[in-house]
Amino acid sequence: LKDSDPVIENQITVCVRKRPLNNKEKNRSEVDVITVPTKNQLIVHEPKHKVDLTKYLDNQQFRFDYVFDETCTNETVYKFTAQPLVKTIFEGGMATCFAYGQTGSGKTHTMGGEFKGKQQNFRNGIYALVATDVYKFLSRPPYKDKNLVVSASFFEIYGKLAFDLLAKKQRLKVLEDGKQVVQVVGLTERAVSKVDDIMDLIKKGSLERTSGQTSANSNSSRSHAVFQIILRRASSKQLEGKFSLIDLAGNERGADNSKSNKQTRQEGADINKSLLALKECIRALGKKGKHCPFRESILTKILRDSFIGEKSRTCMIALISSSVGSVDHTLNTLRYADRVKEL
Ligand code: ADP
Ligand code: MG
Repeated sequence: LKDSDPVIENQITVCVRKRPLNNKEKNRSEVDVITVPTKNQLIVHEPKHKVDLTKYLDNQQFRFDYVFDETCTNETVYKFTAQPLVKTIFEGGMATCFAYGQTGSGKTHTMGGEFKGKQQNFRNGIYALVATDVYKFLSRPPYKDKNLVVSASFFEIYGKLAFDLLAKKQRLKVLEDGKQVVQVVGLTERAVSKVDDIMDLIKKGSLERTSGQTSANSNSSRSHAVFQIILRRASSKQLEGKFSLIDLAGNERGADNSKSNKQTRQEGADINKSLLALKECIRALGKKGKHCPFRESILTKILRDSFIGEKSRTCMIALISSSVGSVDHTLNTLRYADRVKEL
């Protein structure tokens, strides 16, 4: 994939990023079952055996707007996914970028920044890269003269509850008024005037997300994290545009939960429900008359205004592991991503 490749100007962009085998998988001698023959194709080589126990490979091919192999950096992924959407929020629209995939597939690595051991480099996450570009746009005409101000919010959705990552995980209420306007009551919206201000919020919120046992949601893989960059008119505070960047909960909780306890099953059910509603809402984007079931989950309720309007644009980055041990989850992820895109 070369940086000079053209960027698709669709309302919905669906991409896949493959992560390399990690040391644990290498030590177990797991094999890499994913090949990326071109910049928008991907093949899963699924090992199977026939009734007579002869081994064979079932090769399943998928096609997406872009497929990023294990050599791609966060910067390259950004360039073809969220970056083309930055302009949207300066032109009265809503932009949304989702990271979808099983736990350990690279969602937080992509959205928040690369890990070096336990340390995370927040500078090269998609959150920070969007923030940097927002300030670039603000410093140049014609947007320079629009008198816009920037603010940011960061919160987490766990089951039917929401928690403010910029206010010590304070519990937030999600309310809908008679006009179907959804509000997250009490959510911190912090005014920011430069990239470093946003960087501080990204770091603070990310660390808040993974630490602390005060609330029930101590495990980040079971919650959706929503980071928003908001543009408003300086004079009236009227909304100009909003970029929502979402690190989704792990999608690995399938129907087979026979061993898990009641709470875990309920969590899995909530996550599945929100991911299914999300898929339908994205599919409805830009299609007149298609039902958007945003009321089905807190996540889709909160993002309702991102799913309506001709100016809304969305990208989904589906993250997959390359190892043979994850092949079932990988296929689930790819099928979901495929459905999001399907006309
Ligand atoms: P998730 O948020 O989906 O649960 P993480 O982003 O925490 O997964 O990634 C799990 C581990 O895999 C981390 O140690 C991360 O650094 C590593 N990883 C993920 N994606 C990549 C990648 N593209 N290249 C190298 N390491 C990666
Ligand atoms: Mg994560």
